[in-house]
Amino acid sequence: MIKISTLFFITSLIIIATSCSFQKDGEWVNLFNGTDLTDWEANENKDAFKVVDGTIFCDGKRSHLFYKGDYKKGVFKNFEFKAMVKTLPSSNSGIVFHTQEQARGPLLVGYEVQINHSYEREGDFQELKKTGSIYGYRNVYFPTHNDEEWFELHFKVIENSVEVFVNGTKVNEYIQPDDPWRRKNDKYQKFNRGLIAIQCHDEFSKTYFKDIKIKVLPDAEKITPPTDKEWDTKITKLHHANFPVVDFHVHLKGGLKIEEVIENSMKLGINYGVAPNCGLHFPVTDDKSLYAYMDTVKSKPIFRGMQAEGREWISLFSPEAIAEFDYVFTDAMTWTDNEGHRMRLWMEDEVFIKNEEDFMNQLISKIESIISQEPIDIHVNPTFLPAVIADKYDELWTDERIDRFVKVLADNHVALEINSRYRIPSEKILRKAKEAGVKFSFGTNNVTSELGQLDYCFEMIEKLKLNYKDMFLPKPKGQKPVETKGLPKEITG
Ligand SMILES: [Zn+2]
Repeated sequence: MIKISTLFFITSLIIIATSCSFQKDGEWVNLFNGTDLTDWEANENKDAFKVVDGTIFCDGKRSHLFYKGDYKKGVFKNFEFKAMVKTLPSSNSGIVFHTQEQARGPLLVGYEVQINHSYEREGDFQELKKTGSIYGYRNVYFPTHNDEEWFELHFKVIENSVEVFVNGTKVNEYIQPDDPWRRKNDKYQKFNRGLIAIQCHDEFSKTYFKDIKIKVLPDAEKITPPTDKEWDTKITKLHHANFPVVDFHVHLKGGLKIEEVIENSMKLGINYGVAPNCGLHFPVTDDKSLYAYMDTVKSKPIFRGMQAEGREWISLFSPEAIAEFDYVFTDAMTWTDNEGHRMRLWMEDEVFIKNEEDFMNQLISKIESIISQEPIDIHVNPTFLPAVIADKYDELWTDERIDRFVKVLADNHVALEINSRYRIPSEKILRKAKEAGVKFSFGTNNVTSELGQLDYCFEMIEKLKLNYKDMFLPKPKGQKPVETKGLPKEITG
């Protein structure tokens, strides 16, 4: 006869040993025991994954590590996933879900939540998709964490939708329509149910994972996509082509709040760069107000831009403070003419044009001195003409002036904004800029809370056959114009 206490002891042991199968849905379950790869199985390169100091360390040739434990037999449909992740410089990794076993190669089934802060490889293909991207379907092009720092990657899959969070901030969302556009080879990249796998991308990518856990969620109603099928297809094709769909020229104007910008971003699949106006008599006017502003946007899922105002901005901020921004842009709409009139070209009563030719000569000279001397990434509102002469745009922007404009951009590696609000520059100018190797950015320069949908930019993608290599993206720390070029003492010319 067995004593009750012994029986209780044995039962407890059994419960502990098989605790996974007793987990209830809706509770977090650890998938990694912290000591070895029990429950996990690698495919093509088994030694790409090892356990180091309680973490899974991906360090080896391309391979995928599948969770093959008892819990739900590794097959998950609706769930939340969390892991602590640490990348090293140039790491590329990811978590693939709703996938299937496959002997080798990139996984053809399911979606990948991308992990990449600074991956750069020599060769023809430049990977632009950053951590938090739903790889190739809704990309994140802005930085969401740093290398060599642990961050929490968290995503939530419900029926036809996924939301991605980094360190508790939602950075991305994708709601898949019925029968979405897919390239022929990618027809299994859809929501379904399936395995979870950790990606080791290549032998140069080193990534750590720990505290890997999952919470199974109940079946739910499908979510209605926020846009129509036509928009979804257009955006998905661009994301699939690694094309940075970014509006770098957004202002919090007309009552527009940053939360609304972010909501719009997730809805449309457009990344945004939000910029305050920085200069004399603007709210951001010195280092102190710059850092105060930066505190309000630091952890937001956007690019942080600086619109440099007037020509005085170079004397108001330190290079270190300017380098806090992801990028800097300015236009040539505010300047003082030869007779001493300080003009703002969009203000009708501040424009002085006695002679159109003379005005144009002064304008192109101003543009040249700004672009060649100020440490900026993008020239915005480009080729803008005041309302009184705007209808003579094609006549006044002569070939000679266009050539000077394009040359100063190319020589100084300053990107050219395709402005969707003013629909400038003209196709002719953009074509010449492309031939000269100038990079482009998209921008709205909104004055109201309506951000629009980059119509003119999308037209130009088609007309100029732009691909991702034609497009601007902010430079990493240490390579920004203000860091390499420095601030000039004064602007001459
Ligand atoms: Zn602006």
